[in-house]
Amino acid sequence: MKKFIFIFLLFFVKNIYSQNLKIGILNNLELDNFKVELLRGSYDVFADGKMIFEMRRNLQLSAKIYEDKIILYTKYKILGKFDTIYIKKKQNILRKLLFLKNFLKISLKNNFQKNRTYDDNLIFYLKNNKFVLINEIGFMNYIAGVVESESGSKCEFEYYKAQAILCQTYLLRNKNKHKKDDFNMCDGVHCQAYKGKNLNNKKIYKASRKFKKYIVVDEKNKFIDAVFYANCGGETCRAEDVWSNKISYLKPVKDTFCIHTRQAKWNKIISFKDWKNFLFEKVIPINDSIDKEKLNFKQKDSLLFSYFLPKKYPTNSIELLNEKQKDSLLFENSFFEQKNRRKNFEFFEEKIKLTNIRYFFKLRSTFFEIKNIENSLHFQGRGYGHGVGFCQEGAMEMAKKGFKYKEIIKFYYKDVNLKKNRNIEFKN
Ligand SMILES: [Zn+2]
Ligand SMILES: [Zn+2]
Repeated sequence: MKKFIFIFLLFFVKNIYSQNLKIGILNNLELDNFKVELLRGSYDVFADGKMIFEMRRNLQLSAKIYEDKIILYTKYKILGKFDTIYIKKKQNILRKLLFLKNFLKISLKNNFQKNRTYDDNLIFYLKNNKFVLINEIGFMNYIAGVVESESGSKCEFEYYKAQAILCQTYLLRNKNKHKKDDFNMCDGVHCQAYKGKNLNNKKIYKASRKFKKYIVVDEKNKFIDAVFYANCGGETCRAEDVWSNKISYLKPVKDTFCIHTRQAKWNKIISFKDWKNFLFEKVIPINDSIDKEKLNFKQKDSLLFSYFLPKKYPTNSIELLNEKQKDSLLFENSFFEQKNRRKNFEFFEEKIKLTNIRYFFKLRSTFFEIKNIENSLHFQGRGYGHGVGFCQEGAMEMAKKGFKYKEIIKFYYKDVNLKKNRNIEFKN
C-alpha cells in the first residue's frame, strides 16, 4: 500500500518539477520560416486544437507565413493553413519510466549555425507577422540545457551542481519575467542563455536531476537573485554599483581563482574623438536651449571645455589657453586607475558611472584602467560580464581544485543557505 501511495505521489503531485515550463526560443531572429524534424521519440502535430499529423523520422515539417496564417507542409503534401501549431510528444509511460528522451530539431534556412535541438514539445503561432516559438519543456531538461549553454561541456561535476542549483533558483525567482509574452523565460542573456538540449555531457543532466530540488535562499529565506557572468577579473561587484538596489548577499569578493582563465583580461583602444563624443552625448546634461544635434565640432569642443575645465582649473587660467591646450587637458585627465573595483570614473570631479562607459563602448566589463597614449585611450580591462554574484570561470577553477558545490556557491554569495525546496506550486 505504501508503495502504491509513493507511486501515486510520484506521478500525480503537480508541482514545478512535474509541470512543463514555457521557454521563448529563437524569437530574436524574427523568423518567417523554419523546419522541424523528429530526432527521437514519437510526436503528434496538433493544428488549432486538432490532431492533424503524426511525425515520422527523416521527414521534415516546414512552416512559413502566408497572409497572416501558418502554412504547414512536408516534402509530399501541404497540411493546411493554421493559427497555432502544437507538436507534442506522445504520452508513453514506458519511455517515461526508462527516462527515454523525446526531442526535435529546428533548422533555419540560411542560418545553419543556429540549428538547434530541443527536448519535449514545441508550440508556435504568429505575432506581427513573425513566428513566436515556444519550447514547452520539463524542468530538468530545461535546467540541463541552460547549464550546458551557460558553461559548456568540459567542467567538473561539482561545478555543474553549483551552476544547476543557481539556474533553478534564478528560474524560480524569475518565472514570470515574460508573462506578457505568454512564456516563462526567453532563451537569451536577458534571462538565461538556452541554446536547446543538453547534448554533450551526461554529467550535466545528472547534476540537474540529483540537485533539482536544491535552491539558494537569503537570510530571510527568500530565493536569492542568482546572478552570474563569465569572469569577475579578480573582484566581484557590489550589486548597488551596477544596478540601483543594494542586495545583502551581493557584496564584493576578492577572487584569485579566475585571474588566469580565458576571459581574465581584455584590451580596447578608443580614439580621443570617440571619447569626446561619449562625454558630449552621455555626460554633459541636456540643456533645452542647445540643440546638440546641430552643433559642429568646434562648438561641441567649446561646450566640453566650458563644462569640464572649470571644475578643476581656475577660470582665469583657462581663458589664457588656446583650443589645442584645452584639448590636451581633457586628454591628460582621461587617465584612470582601478586597483580595486570602483563605481565611478572621476573626471574633473564629475562622477561618471563605469557602467555607463561600459554600455556606451560595449566593453567586456567595468573593471578597466585607461592609459592615454598618442591621441587615443587604451583600455586595459579585467573580467567579462557585470561582475555581480557568481563568477563562472572562478567557480570552474574552484571545482578543479576540489571545492564542493556548497563552498563554491557560498564563496560568491554571502550569508546564503542551500535548501531543499519541497513541492513548490508553479503556475504558468
Ligand atoms: Zn528574457
Ligand atoms: Zn572571478
